[in-house]
Amino acid sequence: MTIRHNAVAARFLSENGARATRVESLDRTTWQSRQVHADHIVLSASPIETVCLLWTSKSDQHPDGVGNNADPFTRVMFRKFFHESMSIGAAIRESGGEIVGADPSSSVLNAWEQVWEMSNVVVADASAFPRSGVAGTTLTVMAHAKRVCRHLARGSNSAKA
Ligand SMILES: Cc1cc2nc3c(=O)[nH]c(=O)nc-3n(C[C@H](O)[C@H](O)[C@H](O)COP(=O)(O)OP(=O)(O)OC[C@H]3O[C@@H](n4cnc5c(N)ncnc54)[C@H](O)[C@@H]3O)c2cc1C
Repeated sequence: MTIRHNAVAARFLSENGARATRVESLDRTTWQSRQVHADHIVLSASPIETVCLLWTSKSDQHPDGVGNNADPFTRVMFRKFFHESMSIGAAIRESGGEIVGADPSSSVLNAWEQVWEMSNVVVADASAFPRSGVAGTTLTVMAHAKRVCRHLARGSNSAKA
């Protein structure tokens, strides 16, 4: 495995609009652009950045970005502030923006958190959450990430959890 430091993902590219094939990133120190081939892309950049990455990944087949076919309410984002006595930002959980669901007209991701219209792009962060919960999001994010990555490792067409 190669971990590339200072690489800021800018967008992913697809050959025919159905599968993503490459990720374009920028080196944040030199602004040099680089493309990396990918069989699968797992987005876990947190809700705002994950939504941005899908939006910037425009193509002829997806002129408004990927995952934008569904009802706009599927892109609703939740920002929950906790402990009102604390300053804003002291305790905050963001979720939503690319919600999971059973129907492509009312969700962006299927039950395996694959983008309906580009199944080799998987979201493994809180942007998949259809609601904002009461508790901290971190453990739930970790459980989701484990579940979707295990599914990928088994072959992403598997129906097993
Ligand atoms: C102030 C605050 C307090 C919180 N307190 C709690 C708490 O008490 N309990 C709790 O359970 N949760 C808490 N949360 C929520 C918690 O931080 C998140 O649930 C958790 O960090 C989500 O993990 P993640 O890996 O999905 O996202 P992140 O931890 O946000 O990680 C995303 C990573 O992606 C990187 N990234 C973003 N964009 C790009 C890009 N374009 N290219 C490359 N890399 C990119 C970022 O640099 C970051 O390292 C708090 C959040 C905040 C902001």
